[in-house]
Amino acid sequence: MASASSKERSRDGIAELARRRGFLWQAFEIYGGASGFYDYGPLGALLKRRVEEAWRKFYLREGFYEIETTNVAPREIFEASGHLESFTDRAVVCKHCKSFFRVSEGVDVRGKCPECGGELEAAGEINLMFQTRIGLSKEERDEEAQEKTEGYLRPETAQGIFINFQRLLRFNRDKLPFGVIQIGKAYRNEISPRKSLIRLREFTMAEAEVFVDPGEKSNHPRFDEVKDRMLWFVPSEGEGGEKSLEEAVRSGIISNEYLGYHIVKVEEFLERIGIPRDKLRFRQHRPEEMAHYARDCWDAEFLSDRYGWMEIVGVADRGDYDLSSHASHSNTDIGVHVQLPAREGETVKTKAKITPHVIEPSYGIDRIIYALLESSFYEEQVGKEKRKVLRLKNEIAPIIAAVFPLLNRDELKSKAKEVFQMLRDTSIFVEYDDSGSIGRRYRRQDEIGTPYCITIDYETLADDTVTVRERDTMKQVRVPIGKLEEVLV
Ligand code: AMP
Repeated sequence: MASASSKERSRDGIAELARRRGFLWQAFEIYGGASGFYDYGPLGALLKRRVEEAWRKFYLREGFYEIETTNVAPREIFEASGHLESFTDRAVVCKHCKSFFRVSEGVDVRGKCPECGGELEAAGEINLMFQTRIGLSKEERDEEAQEKTEGYLRPETAQGIFINFQRLLRFNRDKLPFGVIQIGKAYRNEISPRKSLIRLREFTMAEAEVFVDPGEKSNHPRFDEVKDRMLWFVPSEGEGGEKSLEEAVRSGIISNEYLGYHIVKVEEFLERIGIPRDKLRFRQHRPEEMAHYARDCWDAEFLSDRYGWMEIVGVADRGDYDLSSHASHSNTDIGVHVQLPAREGETVKTKAKITPHVIEPSYGIDRIIYALLESSFYEEQVGKEKRKVLRLKNEIAPIIAAVFPLLNRDELKSKAKEVFQMLRDTSIFVEYDDSGSIGRRYRRQDEIGTPYCITIDYETLADDTVTVRERDTMKQVRVPIGKLEEVLV
């Protein structure tokens, strides 16, 4: 058995494992790679799909609608959204090796080039969107005609939801509040992406947009369900620490119940898929950090062994910024008629026209995958051997069970294949392995996070029972084949 004292995490161990076992590969590797791009191998793709599926289920259960909008959009969308003007990062460039760097806490013009030690100079504000052309324009030198074909890859999925607001409102029978989700790729031409999955130029976002009457923001119908939840808050001013959501909202740290409710939902989801709660905190943006559309923003940060505190989800109060700008740029009426509560002495209820506000939890799926891999990876001493193990939750493990014949004998192999096929025909994702010693096969499954190994032996041929070994405890139990589906959940 593994002893707690021998448990240790290795910083580079997880990167090596992710590469070797087909979770993550540097994109364009045979051509030397390009920074900011990663590919998911077979196990990585399975893990990512399962995380996305868990996320989708979580928000659909909350009553959200899911839509899917385009990755490419014409210039005017981003003119209206403010991204053309404001979606920028400050950069410096090295006078010697000409490398660009994003200005951050570690790098500014007073420092030296992190690559070659050369002198740095300011390179101004750089827009992070990838530009492309939509269709063709004959008048190459005509600026107006050029603008008509100018398009951009979306830097967030949210805009696709905002520009469909009217249709979505109609779909919800003209009533507020309602929420819409979207999972998809986003593209940002990051200035100096040098941190694996943390800063990518193409990544997957899972965004939820909640449309609410601004007069109702401090009145979430399900606030009571979450108000006692204790969270670690780091406000932009004043002391941070653990507080209940109710305390945070009542004391004004969190400005309204809708924002608070969705912060709790973010933590619930992250915990559900296996991010340890003691490695999570919510940090409020300082005014100078805030995105151009946000009036308040809290980041869910994960404490990484390698990178320190890093943002994995942003929860923003976008106010009416997006809907109002799209309404004015597209000349569309986006106002919603709402009933105002009757005042004392009044018998007739009055109606008012409002522009909804938006609360937005915005998840970076790749950073979440990184956080999951890092926090579930352990190296531990088992007898004389070191075992590497990914303690992934069953809900997201790429493979739920592996089926082995105990020995390399035909009668055991054919029974094992039968069990494997039977499980494969259900929704349980299984693997079959008959190569190498049984111990080695266990280790192979441990390091990719498979929760169960099923072994077929001579007893199986006699009584249709198998052994099921559990990854974390390494304990084995005997289970009738007919009960496997129940056990493997
Ligand atoms: P933002 O819209 O900047 O708040 O981003 C929302 C989420 O997307 C962040 O919390 C990150 O998890 C993720 N994200 C943003 N930029 C990147 C990037 N360059 N690479 C990977 N994930 C990112």
